[in-house]
Amino acid sequence: MKVMLLTLCSAAVFSLGMVALAHSGGEPNVFLTSAGPVKITPLNHASTLIEAGGKTIYLDPAKPVKFSGLPKADLILITDIHGDHMDPDSIKDASKSDTEIFAAPAVAQTVTTAKPIANGETKTWQGWTIEAIPAYNLKRGPAPGKLFHDKGRGNGYVLTYGGKRFYFSGDTEGVPEMRALKNIDVAFVCMNLPYTMPPEEAADAVKAFHPKIVIPYHYRGSDLSVFQKALAGTGIEVRLLEWYPK
Ligand code: ZN
Repeated sequence: MKVMLLTLCSAAVFSLGMVALAHSGGEPNVFLTSAGPVKITPLNHASTLIEAGGKTIYLDPAKPVKFSGLPKADLILITDIHGDHMDPDSIKDASKSDTEIFAAPAVAQTVTTAKPIANGETKTWQGWTIEAIPAYNLKRGPAPGKLFHDKGRGNGYVLTYGGKRFYFSGDTEGVPEMRALKNIDVAFVCMNLPYTMPPEEAADAVKAFHPKIVIPYHYRGSDLSVFQKALAGTGIEVRLLEWYPK
């Protein structure tokens, strides 16, 4: 059975070779752009490694990832102040002398080496365009009248490189600014209760902006099959990567 599967897969890969390569570089986490491949590696929960053009970028480097054994960052992007996104120890371990950091202004108050980038602002860095997209709760919070993530504090990011647009949602519900996104090639979307949103709400928001590929991240405890089912038949590819290595 294994051999047969392998043969089938090989045949499929062979006949679809050019398509698969144009689509993803042949690996589920490699995306081809006009400026070369972008490799996006899940590390844990929200922590993500992005590699392109010989540069190393981390999004939300945080524990339990051990950054001492990983390549040093050329750029670090931070979305919000909570420990799963902003972790001074991990930032230190991932940094070298000339690492640049862009972060939401509330993060830059603690991580003082960070350049603040507020909701709606855009920066450019080494061939990348970095847009800060609002990330916030509409209704969920720790107590009545309070929200886990207040509007204006946290950033999602749309990162454009070689004509491809990658979206990282940060901690958010399906806010209008997410639903209004345009021309997203690959969307990394959060889902987890009680802090962000359940998979069905995430799927509803994803339908609204219709990325070509959506990859759930920051999903601890969520039933991803609900998300997959809700997006079946929409033409949006749901791609699963391992964000919680044992
Ligand atoms: Zn979080």
